[in-house]
Amino acid sequence: MDSTAQRAGVDAFARVWAAALAETGYAGMDRDALVERVREHTGVLVAALRAERFDPEPVERVGVALVELRFTAARTLAASVQLIGEDLLRVIGAEGDRAAASRVTAVQGAFAAGFADALRDKIFRDQEVIRRAALDARRGAESALLASEARFRAMFSQTAVGICISDATGMVIDANAALAGMLGYRLSQLRGVPVRKLRHPDEPAALTGPLDDMRAGLRDHYRAERLLRRADGSALPTDLSVSLVRDEVGAPQFLVAMAEDVTERHRLQERLRHQANHDPLTGLANRALFTERLAEVFGRGDDHRVGLCYLDIDGFKVINDSLGHHIGDQLLVAVAERLDRLVSTPDRLVARMGGDEFVVLCSGTTRRAMEELSDKILRALAEPVPIGGHRLGVSASIGLVERSVGEATPAETMRDADVTLYWAKADGKNRWIAYDPDRNAREVARFTLSARMPAAVESEEFYVDYQPIVRLSDGKLTGVEALVRWAHPELGRLGPDQFIGLAEETGLIVNLGRWVLREAAGQARRWRARYGDGAPMVSVNLAARQTQEPDLVSDVETIIGAAGLPPSSIQLELTESAIMSTTGGPLRTLRQIADLGIRIAIDDFGTGYSNLAYLRHLPVHAIKLAGSFMEGLSAAHPSDPADETIVTTLVSLSHALGHEVIAEGVEDSTQAERLRAIGCDSAQGWLFAKAGPPEEIERMLDAQLLTAPTPRSG
Ligand code: C2E
Ligand code: CA
Ligand code: CA
Repeated sequence: MDSTAQRAGVDAFARVWAAALAETGYAGMDRDALVERVREHTGVLVAALRAERFDPEPVERVGVALVELRFTAARTLAASVQLIGEDLLRVIGAEGDRAAASRVTAVQGAFAAGFADALRDKIFRDQEVIRRAALDARRGAESALLASEARFRAMFSQTAVGICISDATGMVIDANAALAGMLGYRLSQLRGVPVRKLRHPDEPAALTGPLDDMRAGLRDHYRAERLLRRADGSALPTDLSVSLVRDEVGAPQFLVAMAEDVTERHRLQERLRHQANHDPLTGLANRALFTERLAEVFGRGDDHRVGLCYLDIDGFKVINDSLGHHIGDQLLVAVAERLDRLVSTPDRLVARMGGDEFVVLCSGTTRRAMEELSDKILRALAEPVPIGGHRLGVSASIGLVERSVGEATPAETMRDADVTLYWAKADGKNRWIAYDPDRNAREVARFTLSARMPAAVESEEFYVDYQPIVRLSDGKLTGVEALVRWAHPELGRLGPDQFIGLAEETGLIVNLGRWVLREAAGQARRWRARYGDGAPMVSVNLAARQTQEPDLVSDVETIIGAAGLPPSSIQLELTESAIMSTTGGPLRTLRQIADLGIRIAIDDFGTGYSNLAYLRHLPVHAIKLAGSFMEGLSAAHPSDPADETIVTTLVSLSHALGHEVIAEGVEDSTQAERLRAIGCDSAQGWLFAKAGPPEEIERMLDAQLLTAPTPRSG
């Protein structure tokens, strides 16, 4: 909104406000002058609405200024607060802006506080005038009497404040019209009644004590908010101020009481309190009230049990974006109503935390009760909501936390509820999930791991172990698989199953994989230098994510070229699913790698699609049979004919396609013997060796060289 439009808005607001004020009192200035004053005040309010940080003081001073302008009626306050609430947002062009709306409440509050304080001070000053007038009257100097009588009478009869003068015995001597009006009596009915008849029975002692003290001359002033009793018996809340007038020797003579009707102010305070604690759209408690209640519940002793259902509507953004905010708002209202209906006992609170997030807070509950409540909530929301001609199906995800309050702080509990809600979403939505500390610990560990990983690659906390691949026909070690490990400074040695998945998720696998390849290539070169053509082929795992890297081919070429290796001494392993899902770019990448002369093997074959026909079109040199087939070939089990048949078929089909077959996970000699009989080329597994440092491989190669001339003995 431009500044001209805003200035026009301020002008219009000031005119409406001035007119409203003029109806509640008389400022003793003409309308234009009043509008001018009010415009200045409007400017202050607008500035407060827009300010980055809210400062209540200038706004309070606007309230004070109205009292100084002699707008002192309760209606002045009510009308102004209403106007601020309804129109001020429009002036700054921020209708519908939630943040600005909550600022309006703050502005109303500060304004009302300033007004009320100023009014109270004014009443106190007025009372002094009356007291003096009463004193002067008693002293009896004619002229002074006349002057003060006139002043006294004017004030007494015209003020909106109720005034009552009583004698030392507690009888009403006189009262003004305002008091009679407030209490619903005629003036004549008030005169001569005992003062105690005017106090409300709900607080007899609170009022009697101080007044008795005053009549006994023990105190001169008394001020408090007190309930008076109306003619019909109902209670009237007042701001009551009583002063003692003594006679010439100092003995108590009259009590002058002034009562301001604070009904309107109370109602306003109540409304402001409600506004500050409730969500304007749904009428539910807001985050502020929820936080307050949560703190209360946590104050009820360590064994007290607290339960939270933290709820978020599934796919709300889609509804909002496709059907419009208006429909979205109606949906939120409908959800709020359903929740509110389900949860209406005093030990439970439903709050809207913002957006499409709600929370149900239960005090003194059980795990079982919370689970049932979560089920009920999901069922209640499942019923489609009719809105604007649509029947909207809604589901929600709920994170449930139930614990004794001694176990955690409110903030920790909220964080756990938030995490659990996230699990419910991640696990497929439309469900509740209860907080599980073990799962949380695992996820925190995962997070900690993935956060540390980039630095770990830099600082070479990773290392590579090698597992032998053995030719079945003669038991010779012909290759090794490079398997990465992480020597974590705090957690110790971590296997790839603990971090490869994470590295794929974060994309770090690209750097890590390049590092492993370089490391393995370096090792291959050292072996080549030592064993010449007897050096083992080195097989390195490649994650699916790496094949999507545009630089993969050139990286591989550079690394192998730098190591001076014949390309066929390196093999890259990809899982079946990684290859099958690769089309277009990645498949071209594989072809380019194969064209360099590097071998490609399919890892864990048989666990995925096992589409042999498709294999024909791929640049593959070897397949690695998944370890799961080995069980049926084992001596420990009665040999499973199905497994044996499958393995036989896979081996002969692979051979027909020109692929070499390497069996994985070979743990006993029966398996090895059967595989050899079937015609499987090579095998890898604990029967031969677990993965270990390069020196282990060297020991085996050295032993092989020594025993090579003679057949194996013993
Ligand atoms: P994989 O490629 O299937 O590797 C074989 C896994 O089986 C290795 O586990 C190995 O220690 C284990 N193994 C070997 N022989 C036997 C046996 O006789 N019985 C049984 N039960 N298991 C055996 P590891 O080292 O924990 O590696 C797990 C997986 O991590 C690997 O499975 C591979 O997919 C992945 N991985 C390892 N290193 C790398 C790497 O550098 N890059 C990528 N992308 N993935 C890697
Ligand atoms: Ca592998
Ligand atoms: Ca494997």
